[in-house]
Amino acid sequence: LAFIQQLPKAELHAHLNGCIPISTLQHLAKDHLYSATPSSTSQAVKESLERLTSGVTLNEIHEFFSLFPAIYELTATPESLAVATRDVLDLFLSANPDRNGGYPQASYLELRSTPKETPRMSRLEYIETVCNEVERYDREGDRAAVIVSLDRRMTDEVAREVVECAIKLKKAGRRVVGVDLCGDPLAGDMDSFAKHFQAAKEAGLGVTLHIAETPDNPVPETLRLLSFKPDRLGHATFLGSEEKNFVHNSRMCVEICLSSNLLCKTVKSLDEHHIRHYLKHDHPVVVCTDDTLPFKNSLVGEYALLMAPAPIGLGLSEQEVERIAKMGMDSRFRSS
Ligand code: 5GP
Repeated sequence: LAFIQQLPKAELHAHLNGCIPISTLQHLAKDHLYSATPSSTSQAVKESLERLTSGVTLNEIHEFFSLFPAIYELTATPESLAVATRDVLDLFLSANPDRNGGYPQASYLELRSTPKETPRMSRLEYIETVCNEVERYDREGDRAAVIVSLDRRMTDEVAREVVECAIKLKKAGRRVVGVDLCGDPLAGDMDSFAKHFQAAKEAGLGVTLHIAETPDNPVPETLRLLSFKPDRLGHATFLGSEEKNFVHNSRMCVEICLSSNLLCKTVKSLDEHHIRHYLKHDHPVVVCTDDTLPFKNSLVGEYALLMAPAPIGLGLSEQEVERIAKMGMDSRFRSS
């Protein structure tokens, strides 16, 4: 464990609203329920909030996804979004002597989030709020940065607005380093996103795309996404030989989330995990957590899975794990 704790590691695939510590959510939910709860709060959301405040334990992935509308209600003001962001930064980056042997989980974090328009915030203000916290937390500028996510369900107009916000903030010297494509893996028309990712690339932003997450993602769609020439790929679980060749030739780093894949049942066992393919071909990967709230995982735990003997883990040596950690650090989107 000490070996993993002290290893410099990059967390490059963590969704803000999926990584809020449960204690923070409970605190925000209490404030929300006992404040002048907006009349627009639906009964279903109220029930989710009550479940959160009563200390719900999440056993099933769908239980977590069903909590999202409530989580979004809790992070719908600049003040609550700032609290959530701060606690997520702390979760990954604080060197708390009572946690993780006094080492931070990650040496570097790229925190991603989908900007939402709420009655209290525009999408630009959403990203500014996250940036403010990241910049305040990491004044030196070498430990944390922001990736702005586009949801596959976004309209063309909203996707354009979001990318324009990301570019505007990058040009203003703020800590935005990239854009992402996420959300329901089967939703949306990927053709319409091409121009937005092109604009992001031209502005010097890194591009990462969730891709081929399910066996139902059609090959032409995957090839279309690869034609955007992303720098990194999220999951990339179901790539066929043509897509794999493309990925190998372009050396796009694959963001690997072991626990997420096992718990979402997109991969049956670590023995069959696609990380093995990439390691065998000496292809860049980075090991990440995805959503620590539902998966109850940590970056150190993900690295422990790399080292634990089969069938629990992949049984890799210290040397191999060191190399994986270095590949992750080398795959950061640098702010400049
Ligand atoms: P947020 O962007 O709101 O900060 O983080 C939560 C959102 O991230 C979810 O609503 C979903 O759109 C996206 N997300 C979280 N985990 C996954 C995942 O494993 N796959 C995909 N495609 N999207 C995800």
